[in-house]
Amino acid sequence: MAGLPAVAQRETAERARFAIRASGFDFPKQRIHVTVEPALPKASTGLDLAIALAILWASGQVEPADTTREWAWVGELSLTGQLRSVSGLLAFAEAAAADGRVLALPDACERLVAHWGKATVCGAISLGEAVDLFGGESIGGQKPLSRTLVADEPLFGPETLQPNDWAAIAQIKAAIDRGARGVLLTGAAASGKTRIASRVKALLGTLDEEQAREVAVIRDAAGLLVQTGVVSGELTVSRPFRAPHHTVSVAGLTGNASTLRPGEVTLAHHGVLFLDEAPEFSRSAIDVLGAALDNAEVNIIRANVPFVSLPAKPAFVIAAANCCPCGNAGSDRPCACSPESVERFNERLRWLRNRLRLHTEVEVGEPIEDPLPRTVVGAACAALAHAGVDVGPDDVHVWDTDCGEWTFALDPNPWSKAVGTVHDDLSVTLGGAS
Ligand SMILES: [Zn+2]
Repeated sequence: MAGLPAVAQRETAERARFAIRASGFDFPKQRIHVTVEPALPKASTGLDLAIALAILWASGQVEPADTTREWAWVGELSLTGQLRSVSGLLAFAEAAAADGRVLALPDACERLVAHWGKATVCGAISLGEAVDLFGGESIGGQKPLSRTLVADEPLFGPETLQPNDWAAIAQIKAAIDRGARGVLLTGAAASGKTRIASRVKALLGTLDEEQAREVAVIRDAAGLLVQTGVVSGELTVSRPFRAPHHTVSVAGLTGNASTLRPGEVTLAHHGVLFLDEAPEFSRSAIDVLGAALDNAEVNIIRANVPFVSLPAKPAFVIAAANCCPCGNAGSDRPCACSPESVERFNERLRWLRNRLRLHTEVEVGEPIEDPLPRTVVGAACAALAHAGVDVGPDDVHVWDTDCGEWTFALDPNPWSKAVGTVHDDLSVTLGGAS
């Protein structure tokens, strides 16, 4: 067997042998040579089905119908001949659709891929059923399904924001509105940098359908769709939030060329990439990350592996850093750092900002004159002004409803009638709700 990594060759050959026998066919006794083209890295066990069918065809045990000659076949075989789902099915489906081919695949995934809407798919539960399909028999057929777009989690998360977080969030929102690539978020240890970063995807709004598709293909290629059980075929419109640890390897960030597993920067495509303790990331990691962000894709080049490129365009990048090596600067705890170590730390931060082109620095925990959520009050005032109600920020009183929304009133009494609601994307609905 040529064109597959050594381990996959052995395992695929074994599975095909057992599955063919278990399905009532003969595994040819003579030497078989299988070449898988093109010679790109292949880690998927999804090639099992195509290889088994090719062996059966070449040994004269099955013959394709005219209609199925151009089909694409994907699925992992169990030793008993059942078809199992594999990660990366959505990418197979995209490729099949681009080629104008029908995709035969494990029955369990038919629903997922049918939702995709692009490829025509046909499910089979076993090698035996796939052989029937191959011979032109129709089994079951494809059920038309409507696609649902869902948000997989409340956009604004459960953790309550602190009053001081709002100044930082307002600055991040302004950076997003300016079209900035990202920000450097600084503050003392435990000042709420992670809490703030986790809210940023709500400021970016939900994914549109095309973006949701791209994100799903990437998650599926990483095996995450199967893990999270989204196989029911719903397409999530929540943006990804990825927070790789600072010990992440370059391959962990950019993706693994030999397994084709996407890295963190690709998994953050259209979402938020959060680099906590950013100065602790290795220089080589930041270097490749900067290049990936500049090109909106990662190019992985390794010895013996052809050039592979993966999408890598996070909607927003947040690098977080303490204000000094010990993390106490900026808080009321004493800083134990020497001037030299602080200077080295600042030098590192400057390099990081340049390399990642994060031109906006946002400091967390800055005391602000107005402890109320200024962006929320601002949004409420703007909506009221638009409706002809002339009020200033001091006239608007806001309550966090704990579900990502704020109701506001023109009376400080908490029992007063709300005149409107500010939603998590800072859009406003006027009218008393509760
Ligand atoms: Zn310090």
